[in-house]
Formats: sequence, C-alpha cells, structure tokens
Amino acid sequence: MNLDKAIEKVLVSADEINEICKRLGKQITEDYKDSDNLILLGLLNGCIPFMSDLMRYVDLPVQLEFMDVSSYKGGISSSGDIKILMDINTSVVDRDILICEDIVDTGKTLNVVAKLLLHRGAKSVEVVTLLDKPEGRVIPFEPKYIGVTIPKYFVVGYGLDFNELYRNLPYVGVLKEHYYMKDEE
Ligand code: 5GP
Repeated sequence: MNLDKAIEKVLVSADEINEICKRLGKQITEDYKDSDNLILLGLLNGCIPFMSDLMRYVDLPVQLEFMDVSSYKGGISSSGDIKILMDINTSVVDRDILICEDIVDTGKTLNVVAKLLLHRGAKSVEVVTLLDKPEGRVIPFEPKYIGVTIPKYFVVGYGLDFNELYRNLPYVGVLKEHYYMKDEE
C-alpha cells in the first residue's frame, strides 16, 4: 500500500519543512555563535528526519547526542507516563543543550527532560521543535525555536508515527480516521 493513501490531508509539505529547517538553522547559528560546547540532543525516534535536515543548516561545531524517552504508548493520546528508555551518552555539565523534538503537545516530555538536564548541571537547555500544538498543553512550556504551530490534530509523517508507522513520509499529514479507528476497535 502506498503511504499517501492513508493521509487525509498534508499539513506541512516537504518544501515548507525545508524552508523551516533553513530558517531555524540560521537562527540557531546566530544565537549560539559564541558557544563552543553545543550539544544537539535528539529525542528518538521522532527527531530523526528533522534533526538530520536541521543540522545541515547549523554552521557551528556541534556534538550530536540522543535520548529515548517514552510518551505515547502506540495510540493517539498521551499516557503521561514518562520513562527514560535510553539516556544521553555524555556528561552535560556546563554544556549548552538544544533538544531537538518533532512536536510539543502536552509539554510533559520536555518538562521532565529539561529539568533533568539542568539538574545534572547543563549550562543552558533550550528546545527546537518542528511542530508546536499549544492547544494540547497541560504544563506551561515554551519552546525557544518553533517550525510551525498547528491545531490539535493527530499528525503523522517526517518522524511522527502511528503505531511506529508513517515516520518515513517526507511531509507531515493527518491520518485518515479509518486508519486509527480500526486499531481502537
Ligand atoms: P508531549 O509530552 O509534549 O505531550 O509529547 C510529545 C511527544 O508526543 C512527541 O515527541 C510525539 O512522540 C508525541 N506526539 C504528540 N502529538 C503527536 C501527534 O500529533 N502525532 C504523533 N504521531 N505523535 C505525537
């Protein structure tokens, strides 16, 4: 089956994503030009396409690190149960950390991760996210860099999954209701 068939509508096209990466990369390059210890910290697995495209526009020496933090358990609503499945592989003491996320929804995941990194001695912790869904916020959280703000849709593609599928779509779209309804029956 072609992936496109499962998509109701495209919300952020591949061209728009490229423009976002260019804009954010330029801004990050400017903001961190005086930092010699920047870590770009991707939250797996959703960060993969965004982080790899964004970093090409960050014209600075930057260390790449990853964490795997669970949030959604395969469905379309937040479990609220945050677990660290894979921790960062380096010390964060006195480092500038820029967390790279696919989407900020309730804010629970980033609230926990940002606090943890600061507690461990990071010099600064900021967030770059491709998508922001401010209507979904349960905890106040303001990402410093936002690609685009979207309504409270459940979206897939460009790193975002439904039951671990659709991450490889080159754009962000809304899944046809039929595809997740049949899973919940
Ligand atoms: P938060 O803790 O902000 O609620 O959750 C952030 C995480 O929830 C994201 O990294 C992503 O894994 C998941 N998430 C939130 N909204 C969506 C969505 O619309 N689609 C998908 N596929 N995942 C989402």
